Amino acid sequence: GQYLDRIDATNASVNAFITVDRDGALAAADVADKAIAAGNASPLTGVPIAHKDLFCTEGVLTTCGSKMLANFVSPYDATVVSQLKAAGTISLGKTNLDEFAMGSTSESSFYGAVKNPWKLDRVPGGSSGGSAAAVAAGMVPAATGTDTGGSIRQPAGLCGITGIKPTYGVVSRYGMIAYASSLDQGGPMAHTAEDCALLLNHMAGFDTRDSTSLERAKEDYTADLDKPLDGLRIGLPKEYFGEGLAADVRAAIEGALAELRKLGATTVEVSLPNTHLAIPAYYVIAPAEASSNLSRFDGVRYGHRAADYKDLVGPKTSPLDAMYMRSRAEGFGAEVKRRILVGAYVLSHGYYDAYYIKAQQLRRLIAQDFQQALQSCDIIAGPVAPTAAWGLGQMADDPVQMYLADIYTIAVNLAGLPALSTPAGFSAEGLPVGLQLIGNYFAEARLLGVAHRLQ
Ligand code: GLN
Repeated sequence: GQYLDRIDATNASVNAFITVDRDGALAAADVADKAIAAGNASPLTGVPIAHKDLFCTEGVLTTCGSKMLANFVSPYDATVVSQLKAAGTISLGKTNLDEFAMGSTSESSFYGAVKNPWKLDRVPGGSSGGSAAAVAAGMVPAATGTDTGGSIRQPAGLCGITGIKPTYGVVSRYGMIAYASSLDQGGPMAHTAEDCALLLNHMAGFDTRDSTSLERAKEDYTADLDKPLDGLRIGLPKEYFGEGLAADVRAAIEGALAELRKLGATTVEVSLPNTHLAIPAYYVIAPAEASSNLSRFDGVRYGHRAADYKDLVGPKTSPLDAMYMRSRAEGFGAEVKRRILVGAYVLSHGYYDAYYIKAQQLRRLIAQDFQQALQSCDIIAGPVAPTAAWGLGQMADDPVQMYLADIYTIAVNLAGLPALSTPAGFSAEGLPVGLQLIGNYFAEARLLGVAHRLQ
């Protein structure tokens, strides 16, 4: 009730929620009360959460921040949603995002831009900006996010909360509407690493309905929360501390690193020499997969269908083609169209070898960089984003500048590694700065433990 009131009071200014499911939440709260009274509570029973609006939720609108799905009510729950429901959490609703998770600012949503609760003229980051802003503004204690190229870590960093992208394959993608399937991974966003660990315990797990889900023994992600940091070797990639990193962000990161050294860790310089290839590789691979994934939105089975398209019918255009064309033209926003065009181009005959295959080769090199660096350290640390939260509208007309701001986050997705963002002090203007911790495959518990000590 208290959180629903807070949403009522704050959402008009922050725009973090697309849908508030008041009735569903109150009904779930009754169930939780009964479970607690009967002594059947799990650690998450009765905890209010929110889901990024690209997780399918049975009976509740799932829009992906797009006009294309503005009328879409899923007939089933995503695995993440059903598992968190089974753990007793109460979903208060669905959070705003960049359209189809394509963006770094949460401004491209059909439902309007999300504002950073720390300063309402700033972006919250993206694409999981609604989840990050909702947690930072106290509208909900925790939320789910997805991370294809930084979309959990970067908004967590810009909003001063904690968010972890697990190893690819740890969290089921079933019911998580696909952007770039080989990169997408769901994860928790909350105030603390401890809360993220508790949530991840109920988000992770093998799922036969996701062909890339990993079959592994169940893990307790809280296991390393109290593990001392003595002897921990933290690698600092020299490429992550060079030109382009704002001085105040660097100072905040240095402060957090000094704290970690005080706690017993040592730092060593490492190198990720192919860092400069990550953005070009990502912005070929992600659009390529997106162009294929988004071909399902054709106005036939679900989603937006144009009311009128007869004028497009001609000698070369059938009524069906005309309906597809107009529905997609009306349903998708500019950034989504841009990515579909890029994706279709790099996959087309004659360009496939030059762009797509090349990008896959770079992806391999980038993954090898991390394995090389992790020979001389246990985890890697660096910034999440080059600056603190920038102004709303500042990058609106310059997608390339926006893509460049993903420099520290996207290589992790290309490699499939786990990484988190944890608060690391403030910028010169008093805005939050995130510290990124990157681990080897399945090092989630260790990463959360290091963040917990720092918090
Ligand atoms: N900013 C990146 C993009 O636009 C990452 C987004 C994400 O992780 N979903 O693709």
